Amino acid sequence: MFPELSREEILRYSRHLLIPEVGLDGQRKIKASSALVIGTGGLGSPVALYLAAAGVGHIGLVDYDVVEESNLQRQIVHGTGMVGKVKVESARLRLQDLNPFIQVDIFNEPFTSTNAMRIAEPFEIIIDGTDNFPTRYLTNDLCVLTGKPNVFGAVYRFEGQASVFYAREGPCYRCLFPEPPPPGMVPSCADAGVLGILPGTIGTIQATEAIKFLLGIGTSLVGRLLIYNALDMSFEYVKLKKNPECKVCGAHPEITGLVDYFEFCGVPGFDHVEGPANADWNISARELANKLKRGEKIHLIDVREPHELAISQITNAENIPLGVLAAHLGELDSTQDIVLFCKSGTRSTHALEILKSAGFRKVRNLRGGINAWAREVDRSLPLY
Ligand SMILES: [Zn+2]
Repeated sequence: MFPELSREEILRYSRHLLIPEVGLDGQRKIKASSALVIGTGGLGSPVALYLAAAGVGHIGLVDYDVVEESNLQRQIVHGTGMVGKVKVESARLRLQDLNPFIQVDIFNEPFTSTNAMRIAEPFEIIIDGTDNFPTRYLTNDLCVLTGKPNVFGAVYRFEGQASVFYAREGPCYRCLFPEPPPPGMVPSCADAGVLGILPGTIGTIQATEAIKFLLGIGTSLVGRLLIYNALDMSFEYVKLKKNPECKVCGAHPEITGLVDYFEFCGVPGFDHVEGPANADWNISARELANKLKRGEKIHLIDVREPHELAISQITNAENIPLGVLAAHLGELDSTQDIVLFCKSGTRSTHALEILKSAGFRKVRNLRGGINAWAREVDRSLPLY
């Protein structure tokens, strides 16, 4: 029933064939199996590499981005020569070089409610390597509705989490968190930073869980959340319970189709949001530079963290990190023009909301942040 292995494949997978829990039958099972990896970034890179190396016969890759230099610190499936190239193309080349005996299908498009069912249909197991809320909820609901396991991973600075959400045997993600957090509550990876090795650790755990599931061996992370801290080198487990009232996997589900959370999630599915939706609250780097050149009095507020000032600065800007901005409102003059900025515009958009709700009206967001300033006005500044 499972495909035979060729002589070359027997040699290639000999270290698997030597393990009694895998053996020849297990390797044939892996060859017959399929997995969809959503995202070819920090988590998706090690997941895809190890599944390919292990001989998973059919791998799907979904991403819509191109390789950037700032990806290479952690997205190890891509190389320097691939900067500027489509990520799924770059990843496919690497995987096919690693293992020409497998089939790799690529989907160069965002994973959304309109294409998710079609893309996921041929695959037995779904691995979420995107670490953002819209995809996390979309993947969860898709897996519940189609009865597939969802291998989850998340990373933040030095801490990572992993689990397997499989509604047939345990809780789903919505059993724990019924709805995404409100806008602006969660920093995106681009703003928060992450130790490059961390997604390697978590992604490797995701790949391990996928292989165990495909082989039907061991005890999975179903019903358990792994919490890993790289600084303490600690692994802890939290027991997860199925919620009988869960909106998607409970006895009386309300959610019976896929939902997109692009508009109201803290972390957008598309990484490059650079300012508030209403253009009136934005100012471009060039426009700001012209105003400053004309001698207009503008209070520039840099809401980044103090350690980011060592990378780049705009002259005469005052540093008030986003986290303490609310406590400093009393020191700001609401009659004066204020321009807020951060690295790329996400945190300063949140800062703008804080000032707007405190009654400030002459406040704007530097669209694209100090990186836009570095691109358009002061080319001596580095991008990061
Ligand atoms: Zn549930």
